[in-house]
Amino acid sequence: MPKSLSNRTLNIAASLTVAIDSLAKKMIAEGKDVVSLGAGEPDFPTPEPICKAAHCAIDSGKTRYTAPVGILELRKKICEKLSKENGLRYEPEQITVTSGAKHAVFNSLAALINPGDEVIIPAPYWVTYPELVKWLGGVPVFVDGLQENDFKITAEQLKKVCNDKTKAILMNNPCNPTGSVYSREELEALAKVIVENDLYCISDEVYEYFVYQGTFTSIASIERMKDRSIVINGFSKSYCMTGWRVGYDASPAPIAKIIGKIQGQATHHPSNIAQYAALGALEMGNAESLKMREVFRKRRDFMVSKIGDALGQKLRAPEGAFYLFAPVSSVYGQSTPDGKTIKGSVDLCEYILESQGLAIVPGAAFGNDNCVRFSYAASDENLESACRRFEAAIRSLK
Ligand code: GLU
Repeated sequence: MPKSLSNRTLNIAASLTVAIDSLAKKMIAEGKDVVSLGAGEPDFPTPEPICKAAHCAIDSGKTRYTAPVGILELRKKICEKLSKENGLRYEPEQITVTSGAKHAVFNSLAALINPGDEVIIPAPYWVTYPELVKWLGGVPVFVDGLQENDFKITAEQLKKVCNDKTKAILMNNPCNPTGSVYSREELEALAKVIVENDLYCISDEVYEYFVYQGTFTSIASIERMKDRSIVINGFSKSYCMTGWRVGYDASPAPIAKIIGKIQGQATHHPSNIAQYAALGALEMGNAESLKMREVFRKRRDFMVSKIGDALGQKLRAPEGAFYLFAPVSSVYGQSTPDGKTIKGSVDLCEYILESQGLAIVPGAAFGNDNCVRFSYAASDENLESACRRFEAAIRSLK
């Protein structure tokens, strides 16, 4: 009998966004008629100047190890970006380049958490956050953002859950899956509680460029927050570089030192070539990303209207990111043509994938079983087909 595997790892769930995306891609490869709005992955190709920078890196022999924290040119450029766009001044020693932003979240939690430490996670949350906290021996504490407050949490709610064991809050602004965006005033109120309770703040800002109303504010730019914040960002969404795996974090120097140590032992560094590609992205600037935002805005409006019609409800347009988190609990209790009762978001998504070949993600994966998540970072053609399929699936319920 082989010895048992790691309990800590057995106790975490697999990523459902990744699982659904992989399943949909497998079904498509098998020739099945499937439309996937599962993963948030822009449908645009990686821009040419970024690919050129990668080719150039290969041609000039940038194929060896780099420093664990990443190449200096890229870290300097990230500092320039953070200063110019977010009003945050960092030195290159405070930046770690990581294998995607997800890896930066992992490193940050690994640097902060002792067993039993509580980490506050506003819900709905991105699938990965609670599992990483648990994996590292921490305890996720959820605070439910109410739908009537656009799924955002308030300072009063935050205050109520803080205690001696609370170590950090893990924010995602703009939020995956809800698309909600915190205003500066809302962040100031949260920051006050964070400072009063001496918490760290991990701020995942990967959807920063996709804000459709108002402006984006990094919580780290609020008074007294920078020295307790770890700012995370990446290239996957903003520069269509999902497969390149490059993200980064910016943190206070003592934390950056620990993150560098973790990375030096665990992965050494992200691909040298991909780091040069990311440098090419920052040199190119964000004009392409902002053009993409305008395309996403149109797609968002289309989805809000069509999915709302299918559900017979008026849906609120999400202010940011590229997801529609639609309330679907009105169909719970209804039966499929095969006689199965839809009991929750997992049943509904399974039924829609099996009957219509449409892959979407159950809200249960994000801590809210009343909703399902559609990614609208997909072609117009796929979005139109997805809406038709969704409507047909809903119409067939009795
Ligand atoms: N972050 C994206 C999503 O939520 C990509 C998949 C993942 O890493 O979870 O769909």
